[in-house]
Amino acid sequence: MAARTGKEFLDRLSGSRPTVHIQGETLVGGIQDHPAFRNVVRSYAELYDLQHAPEHRDVLTHPSPTSGEPVGTAFLTPRTPQDLVKRREAFKVWADHSMGMLGRTGDYMNSSLMSLASAADWFAQSDPAFGENIRRYVEKVREEDLLCTHTLIPPQVNRAVAGTQQGGGKLAARIVKEDDNGVVIRGARMLATIAPFADEMLVFPSTVLRGTPEDKPYSYAFAVPNDAKGLRYIAREPLDYDRPRHDHPLGSRFDESDAVVVFDDVHVPYERCFVLGDAELCNGFYTRTSATAHMTHQVVTRTAAKTEYILGLVSLLTEAIAIEQFQHVQEDVAEVISTLETLRAFLRAAEADAEVNEYGVLTPAWVPLNTARNLYPKLYQRFPQILRKLGASGLMATPTEADVFGPAAGDIHSYLQSATLSGEERVKLFRLVWDTCVSAFSSRQALYEYYFFGDPVRMAGAYVNSYDREPYRAKVQAFLDRAS
Ligand SMILES: Cc1cc2nc3c(=O)[nH]c(=O)nc-3n(C[C@H](O)[C@H](O)[C@H](O)COP(=O)(O)OP(=O)(O)OC[C@H]3O[C@@H](n4cnc5c(N)ncnc54)[C@H](O)[C@@H]3O)c2cc1C
Repeated sequence: MAARTGKEFLDRLSGSRPTVHIQGETLVGGIQDHPAFRNVVRSYAELYDLQHAPEHRDVLTHPSPTSGEPVGTAFLTPRTPQDLVKRREAFKVWADHSMGMLGRTGDYMNSSLMSLASAADWFAQSDPAFGENIRRYVEKVREEDLLCTHTLIPPQVNRAVAGTQQGGGKLAARIVKEDDNGVVIRGARMLATIAPFADEMLVFPSTVLRGTPEDKPYSYAFAVPNDAKGLRYIAREPLDYDRPRHDHPLGSRFDESDAVVVFDDVHVPYERCFVLGDAELCNGFYTRTSATAHMTHQVVTRTAAKTEYILGLVSLLTEAIAIEQFQHVQEDVAEVISTLETLRAFLRAAEADAEVNEYGVLTPAWVPLNTARNLYPKLYQRFPQILRKLGASGLMATPTEADVFGPAAGDIHSYLQSATLSGEERVKLFRLVWDTCVSAFSSRQALYEYYFFGDPVRMAGAYVNSYDREPYRAKVQAFLDRAS
């Protein structure tokens, strides 16, 4: 099978039987029609349909190196600058479809998988079979166009001790048994976005491992089908309240769902294992394979698309109530513009300074991408603040569709008009602003952006430690030493 259509995505989901606990219910399948998921899975289906739309298919797909059939562009191994541009353009088409609100679209994990497969030799260091396993697995995901998510961090129990030591070493997902054809995993990982409707769960390393015997059961990377025996998800309360699109324009489309991941003795066959028992390989998993750079290329493209959305939204808002002439309003709009232009500049720099890595893959430059991923979690927090400040009481003068077209229609038409919009148009716009800066959906978006790549505090530490500051120290020292 090649790049899927939306129908093919939904058909596969309807045949899948993941175990999902949600609001007191235990689902075993039926995800595609459940009120918590049916809208967002349809948004995902639309993305798959775009792969076949005449105006997008050339960007969103490329011929598979094995079957020659069109497959997703995120799997395109970049060798030339044009390949990197094509990858970015494809990321952008999907990101624009959700205004950047969907963070786990297939291209995110697929970018990582493309990079991991190209570095198969790196996995083979510990056992040649692991090199073959990652290559074959990525080929499967590519050819079947599977939707993957990942779960990384251990349960948040006691952050004063290492992840492997949570609950005395009895909580975080670990290998408890090895048999002739695989390993058995028991324990939990904290979270996985889109877990209930993904096809595959990637259980990759995240925390730094010390290579001690105690760390060995936690040193692994593997993938399991979403409905593997013993795998359970505990989903959070949905933020899609099954309200009309008019009332919850974002929440009714893009609530991705996040879930705790429980492994109740899940058997993982060897062919789905990529690292086992090797802490050093786990610690270098993302950086030595360039996976982080390719994932971040996708993420910065998405966050630039999201910032374009914010800029469009804030512009419609200030125009609607004619506040754009005020200087502090311009200052806020300028902040959104500078964030957008900063992200674009990072993307451009990352592509312009791309280098071929040791596996022959043209890899976007890391420093601009790393800078972008350190900045955006904080910059994004300003957007809801700005929208709330500028929207003010208008964000509460937001009756639902039933009122806009019900008995209050006349009052709404006259009293809620704006400088440029009719009452109905203004309510529609302000409900979108509300769903971007006030609703529970918007709050989850802000949290998501803040923690997208991990804890920004610890990321900053890693950023400082990895940045080569020597030339600047030397420059200042030379000035101090200058005689005249
Ligand atoms: C909406 C959402 C979706 C997510 N989706 C996914 C997903 O799909 N897959 C996935 O794997 N993960 C996902 N995550 C988890 C995300 O990776 C983590 O939130 C992030 O890594 C931070 O870890 P934590 O939440 O355990 O915070 P903690 O590590 O528990 O930190 C809590 C607070 O304590 C502070 N703190 C804790 N330890 C230290 C320390 N050693 N030094 C300094 N400060 C410390 C932190 O700064 C923070 O303020 C998601 C998170 C959110 C919010």
